[in-house]
Amino acid sequence: MKANYHTHTARCGHAKGADEDYVRAAIDGGFELLGFSDHMPWPYASGFTNPGVRMALSRMDEYLASAARLREKYAGKIRILTGFECEHFPAYMSWLRDTLEEKPIDYLILGHHFDETDETGMYFGRCTRASQLRRYTDGAIRGLETGLFMYLAHPDLFMRGYRRFDADCRAAARDLAQACRAMDIPMEYNVHDRFIGYNGGRGSYPHPEFFSIAMEEGVRVIIGLDAHEPAELSNPAQWERAHGELEAFGGLRLDDMEALRK
Ligand SMILES: [Zn+2]
Ligand SMILES: [Zn+2]
Repeated sequence: MKANYHTHTARCGHAKGADEDYVRAAIDGGFELLGFSDHMPWPYASGFTNPGVRMALSRMDEYLASAARLREKYAGKIRILTGFECEHFPAYMSWLRDTLEEKPIDYLILGHHFDETDETGMYFGRCTRASQLRRYTDGAIRGLETGLFMYLAHPDLFMRGYRRFDADCRAAARDLAQACRAMDIPMEYNVHDRFIGYNGGRGSYPHPEFFSIAMEEGVRVIIGLDAHEPAELSNPAQWERAHGELEAFGGLRLDDMEALRK
């Protein structure tokens, strides 16, 4: 089964296209399952907003309703799930648990983008120092330990800022991999930065050394397109390249999450 669980919508402020365009593009790309996972809105105590990163909380219901409408409209052509790419923000976790009870949300993936909260914390894509990398690693593991997340999105996010894969990166990879292995949580092989030609095409993640450590540790992996525009779903190039690169993972390579979900 060809499945993608990492799909954004224009609501986040840095993705483009109508929701339905993503569905059509996924069908064109041969996907049988499309999971919307836009950036989670949070009930910021400070009144903070981050319109270039995530939708306002007031738009959550409309997002969920749009996905439900498309699920019905395209039934029989593609399966649609609705989730969020979500951080672990310790101060808001009880709100998150309540929200998961109250709303029709199928799953969460952990995108550990910010230190504690984006109101004050750094963006881990700009990590340049070992101490920041350590906070990323420990925070991501604490997030996974909540049991709320289906997989760890772009586990090697820090390679957006780090320019070489040094001993601290190896230690981070090892720690993250061992935690994922122990909790049986897959890691995502995220190809979005390749699609957009991040860092002048030199890329950032997926990082080969990071994933060779993950493989040694026996972590399951799944491709995530992290689509921020419909063309990421209809153009097969990134998915096929990633699929080939993950051949070495053998039975650890997942095509979908159906066996593991719930
Ligand atoms: Zn995004
Ligand atoms: Zn994403």
